[in-house]
Amino acid sequence: MVDKGARRTRHQKHHWAFQGLLSCGHCGYTLVAELKKEQYVYYHCTGNRGKCPEKYAREADIAEQFGSAIKAIQLDGEVLGWIKAALKGSHEVQERQHREALASFHEQYDNLQKRLDAIYLDKLAGKITREFYEQRSNQWRREQQDILRKIEKHQDANWAYVDEGIRLLELAQRAAILYEKQDMLEKRRLLNFVCSNSIWKDGKLIPNYRKPFDLLAVTNTEYQKQKAISSSETAFLILLAPLRALIPERLAYPSNRSIHDYC
Ligand SMILES: [Zn+2]
Repeated sequence: MVDKGARRTRHQKHHWAFQGLLSCGHCGYTLVAELKKEQYVYYHCTGNRGKCPEKYAREADIAEQFGSAIKAIQLDGEVLGWIKAALKGSHEVQERQHREALASFHEQYDNLQKRLDAIYLDKLAGKITREFYEQRSNQWRREQQDILRKIEKHQDANWAYVDEGIRLLELAQRAAILYEKQDMLEKRRLLNFVCSNSIWKDGKLIPNYRKPFDLLAVTNTEYQKQKAISSSETAFLILLAPLRALIPERLAYPSNRSIHDYC
């Protein structure tokens, strides 16, 4: 498709919901949209000078398959409740450990300060040599600096991540419903939040989830399989450990994107 002017290009960008979200699984080119008979939107690959074997795909088919991809990160409602409770429980334990660690650092710092004060008096009283005083006091001051750095690091720790994590899981749970209700361009916004650089091959979508949705999709699929052969209580254990690990380590949003846009 040839674009003849900025206005038209801009106009099109707003209308092609999935352009830029999909690459061809045969040749890696981006799938581009085309309007047929002034009402049907198709996507096709321009790779290999137009000789790529990938067939034209209907926009509705792509939308439907993206819908299934979004469903894959949707947790069961009751399970979400259990996870929230478990994460909040572990959060309280972590917070207590954090407070205890801080108190211990402050105590170590104060002890060093007492020693520094004492050795200074010893030096004034002539009980120790200047060299001995310098050596010891320098060492203890260095130890104090180390402790201050540890305290700073601890105070910077972001304890909001558990709440953020829970909001993310709630979003994932609602995403499928949101996706169904939204028009194509809103679908695009949601998809762009959850996926990037997905592949289209032989008429099938291979979704590529952004972090941490990738882990959520894998774990949730495992959970659904386990639930089918045992119970949701048993299957829940499959979800819990990876999600717990996910919250502090992998829940780093790109700073220009915000989950608050959706929740
Ligand atoms: Zn291709």
